[in-house]
Amino acid sequence: MMSGLQDNTSATPNVVCDKCRGVISAFQLCLRESDEVKQAESPLIRQYLVHEVQASGLRGCHFCSIISQALCPVHSERNISQPSGSFITLRFSRMKKSDGSYVTSIDAWLRDSEGERIRNSTIGVVSAFQDQPIPASWSISTSSDATFELAQGWHDECLLNHELCEELRITPASANKSPFPTYLVELVPGGLHLCRAKDHPDRPQYLTLSHRWGGSHIFQLTSKNLDALLSEIHLSDLPKTFQDAILITRKLGYRFIWIDSLCIIQDSKEHWVTESTIMGDIYRGSSCTIAALGATDGDSGCFKTRNPLCFQHCRFELDAGQVAYLTPRHERKSFNYTGYGPEVEPLHERAWVMQEWMLSPRTLHYGTFGLYWECVIASAGGQQPRMETSLSSTKYALQQACTLEITGKMDTSYKPFWRWWSRVISIYNPCGLTYGTDKLVAISGIVRLVESKTGLHSLAGIWKEYLLPELLWYVDGLAVHPKVAYQAPTWSWASLNARVNPGIQDFDYAFDWKAELLEAVVHPAAANGQLLSAYIKIRGPLQRVRWEAVENGYKLRWGEKVARENTADDGIAFLPDVAPDPEQELWALLVVHGAALTTWMNMGLVVAKKDGNREIWVRVGSFRQYDWPTNPTEFFEDGGAETRELVIV
Ligand SMILES: [Zn+2]
Ligand SMILES: [Zn+2]
Repeated sequence: MMSGLQDNTSATPNVVCDKCRGVISAFQLCLRESDEVKQAESPLIRQYLVHEVQASGLRGCHFCSIISQALCPVHSERNISQPSGSFITLRFSRMKKSDGSYVTSIDAWLRDSEGERIRNSTIGVVSAFQDQPIPASWSISTSSDATFELAQGWHDECLLNHELCEELRITPASANKSPFPTYLVELVPGGLHLCRAKDHPDRPQYLTLSHRWGGSHIFQLTSKNLDALLSEIHLSDLPKTFQDAILITRKLGYRFIWIDSLCIIQDSKEHWVTESTIMGDIYRGSSCTIAALGATDGDSGCFKTRNPLCFQHCRFELDAGQVAYLTPRHERKSFNYTGYGPEVEPLHERAWVMQEWMLSPRTLHYGTFGLYWECVIASAGGQQPRMETSLSSTKYALQQACTLEITGKMDTSYKPFWRWWSRVISIYNPCGLTYGTDKLVAISGIVRLVESKTGLHSLAGIWKEYLLPELLWYVDGLAVHPKVAYQAPTWSWASLNARVNPGIQDFDYAFDWKAELLEAVVHPAAANGQLLSAYIKIRGPLQRVRWEAVENGYKLRWGEKVARENTADDGIAFLPDVAPDPEQELWALLVVHGAALTTWMNMGLVVAKKDGNREIWVRVGSFRQYDWPTNPTEFFEDGGAETRELVIV
């Protein structure tokens, strides 16, 4: 599809194929015979071949569309494996509830050619549903006029009724001293060009684009074409995703949009540092962000075609005059961390997106399955177009975290902050970056906002006020050392590109900090968060250890002791950051002892000397020892630990 060419084709709802009509008849028959349809009754089990149900869905059978989407989504860019010859079985069931009403559902299984179960999904049958479909619900493409109307409606409702959304936007952009992008793309009748924002002293309203460059060559602003682009940008020179974003900008009635590769001079290190330092403010100050959620690269475009029947209720007659609806598998409407997002859509594999998403007061998500709205206090989707207030969005969570009173103690106000921040970094850290040196830059907008609101200080992504507990992070599985220039010190999660978990996950312990932070120093490379180097000086009990691989991971040993089963000797788990090197000499640094009513734990860092240097240390992992019946301090007292001062880089 060419850009700007809108696709207004619609699907027809509630039409079913012959086979599905037969299924409905059998169901009706059974209902007449008994109140309760037993799951095992064979007439109600139906089989579909996967390729048949998919083809029938695409030919317009509403039932087949819902069934195939529930088990083997054809629109998904992640291909879920479906061995050839696999088929789907459906089993109807109807149960009487205690209040006399009925619950009806279809239990659907995807099976391989041998009949082995691969996965299942329960598809509900309901007698009524709330959100009546609107014209956009039946559009084949998210570029349809009806879909633009839907987006416009959400946008207008937020601007008109959501004070908080506008308030949060205005904060950084209203005062004239606050950061503002240097360049914007200006849309004029019949064309577009780059403009200097300072030529518009009234600070115009603008949109932002959140997108993935991917492998494709992206049209860029450089010092060579700056003058040319200031007079004109040829739409046809731009990648599809940008062309679509320009169309959306026009449709929403805006004149300006900020797109990173068109508004940052790509061959100017200086301009890159200036703009990346205020990147968070650029997104925070935009009226709305267009997120090309389903686009893997610049050529993919914002708009997607999909079979809308997969996502809409199918109406059918259950019995004479009695209407029922087959309910599709729900699209996620709540934009929290576990929602539809990060794992599902290509955009969320990109690290920069985290702050573009969280800091923008409004995001219009152009997803693989359809269009979604998300602002600080509400969300909506093509399936449930009515905007609903929801306080579970990532945008709201960030605002909430910023209002917590942080004292520097492990208290009840730190706990929700810690839970939020742990979640943010566990999602952020594995995400992809073209340049590893951007690791702390791409999240610096969030960090700067949190610092300004809570008074916390970030040291290479670790909050200085909570440095000891936050040092105890560990990696899910094993990471690989990034082969790039310096990202962060080894004691920061930002030195690796892996999913990390917080070391302390239970606040019920009385914490006795065995280590003491003496000094923490970071040397910034630029104002945008990038580091040249960093170190911490820490004092605590240190002892030489060995490690060995065991069935489910690694254990630490010390001295000449042989492990005795079910004793503290055997219970020290070693959680290395990367695959441990058998040649490397390791030491354990005890950081904290925690005591609870009936249990206790020890946690600390596993460190090694950097390149054999006697004074400089690096982190190689962490360790934990939990709840063993012998003396908990034995590990350090018995093994000849001594209190030492270490400089860890
Ligand atoms: Zn069908
Ligand atoms: Zn809003």
